[in-house]
Amino acid sequence: MSKQEKLYLTVGPSKPYPTVHRHTQEAIDLNLFSISHTGEFFITMYKKLNDNLRQLFNIPESHHILFTGSSTESMHTIIASTVEETSAHLITGGFSDKFYKAAKDLGKKPIMLRLEQNDVLNYEDLDLRDVELLCVTENDTSIGLQIPLAGIQKLKEKYPELLVAVDIVSSAPVTEIDYSYIDMAFFSVHKGLGLPAGLGVLIVNDDSIHKARSLQNKGVSIGGHHSLVSLAEKAETHKTPETPNVFNIFLLERVTSDILGEAQGLSNIRSLTSQKAKLIYDYFDRHEKYPPLISGSYRSLTTPVIYTPGEASDIAERLASKGIIVSKGYKPFENDHIRIANFPSHTLEDIQRLLDCLESVL
Ligand SMILES: *Cc1c(COP(=O)(O)O)cnc(C)c1O
Repeated sequence: MSKQEKLYLTVGPSKPYPTVHRHTQEAIDLNLFSISHTGEFFITMYKKLNDNLRQLFNIPESHHILFTGSSTESMHTIIASTVEETSAHLITGGFSDKFYKAAKDLGKKPIMLRLEQNDVLNYEDLDLRDVELLCVTENDTSIGLQIPLAGIQKLKEKYPELLVAVDIVSSAPVTEIDYSYIDMAFFSVHKGLGLPAGLGVLIVNDDSIHKARSLQNKGVSIGGHHSLVSLAEKAETHKTPETPNVFNIFLLERVTSDILGEAQGLSNIRSLTSQKAKLIYDYFDRHEKYPPLISGSYRSLTTPVIYTPGEASDIAERLASKGIIVSKGYKPFENDHIRIANFPSHTLEDIQRLLDCLESVL
């Protein structure tokens, strides 16, 4: 084992946000693991977190902030609560497939709208007649494809009844969402926020909750474990339907406070993310053997994927011997792709260390 600290450039869980170590000690000092989730400390913390998220992500009053155990759970709750029959899924890779599968598993009749790897996306071309919900994976972590959302605004004008749900799991907090035309968005804290796994944030508007209520009134099941209605009713009074992940809620409150506490915190994160992504893509664009998987303009800023046919395991092992841990491909491309996280916790020096290492192992 080398003495140098291990660097996790995995696409989630990944390198912790730099203040997480300190806040973990703080949690122990505060007896956080023993306090009640219905007591005053928790409720005050919950309110603060709610305010922080609104401020940081520009979430308007029309939208509610709910907590789940994971983004997979959020997908299931969204489908169960807002779809009676038909959802349409923009298929960009493994994670949009997962959203589609959630609809299948719940007995709906989902439609696949395929976007080929290097195609340009025209939302106007999508035929969404009789579709209740459009599901979009903004950053498909499986292949490192990040698509624009702006065209959705026109779609909402064309189909006024349509709801739109956006998976921003591996691009939050970098991606900016305009909630004036996005009904639902969700992420997990173990990707870009650099926290431990086990907490999902689900942002939903009144229209979505209204849809859930109307399905419920018609006698449609809107979810067993949780529904948008049960989650939103509890959230009104800063409560959760079960004992929540108090530790992660605490960490998220602290880390969002840290980002908000810095002048230009989030805009610095965004510009640094672009800068680091450019270093990574420039390196592989010049590499004679291993190009970036996406050649078009929809390259992911936060999770670049490199095409390494048949050699991903070998390359990952060589990097690991130098203390750098990257993700292999997403099934079924385990051995054909290397996935590299470029999250806010990753510094310019981290990316430089990766590139120096690649220089010696490739
Ligand atoms: C990781 C990931 C998910 C799943 O999140 P979980 O919290 O593990 O359920 C969904 N979508 C995308 C794009 C992801 O990267």
